[in-house]
Amino acid sequence: MKIAEPLDVLHSKEALATRIAELGAQIAKDYAGKELVLVCVLKGATLFFADLVRAIDLPLSIDFIGLSSYGEATESSGVVKITSDLTKPIQGKHVLVIEDIVDTGLTMRYLLDNLATRHPASAKICALLHKPARARTKIDIDYLGFTIPDLFVVGYGLDYGEKMRNVPFIGVMKPGGVK
Ligand code: 5GP
Repeated sequence: MKIAEPLDVLHSKEALATRIAELGAQIAKDYAGKELVLVCVLKGATLFFADLVRAIDLPLSIDFIGLSSYGEATESSGVVKITSDLTKPIQGKHVLVIEDIVDTGLTMRYLLDNLATRHPASAKICALLHKPARARTKIDIDYLGFTIPDLFVVGYGLDYGEKMRNVPFIGVMKPGGVK
């Protein structure tokens, strides 16, 4: 069985590429002349991150942070742990956090509060997806790919029980799609 077979396409490979090119151009314009660090939130944002960095025509550096949220697999508890920290200080740097999806917003709230203690020159967010229906805290997303309805999405880095991250589009389970 093909891995993407149980999925309906929500945002195609082509739609993702088009939107990411737009985001990259906007970010390049906004950060010209600034010392920019792009921080990828593991693991979900990895595919988005890899495509986005190549769409930003600026000198920049990259770093990674691993976060895990306690609680059910599909429900954020708001209690977040850093499982793998940044490799370099961000003091005085312009940080742009790259996230796969802002759902309740609790993970991003925790991360922004944590980064603020490290005194960056600025800290902004770029998220591929936003599910405003489930927001539990107000997060200003500075660069957003797509607003989506209250659906559990998979693919393009987003997992279903750690699988399906390698599906090349954003999909939703077909009714009765999971085997
Ligand atoms: P939040 O703290 O905003 O509720 O959730 C953030 C994290 O929950 C995301 O980074 C992602 O890992 C996971 N998440 C939230 N919604 C979805 C979804 O629809 N699909 C998948 N695969 N993960 C999600």
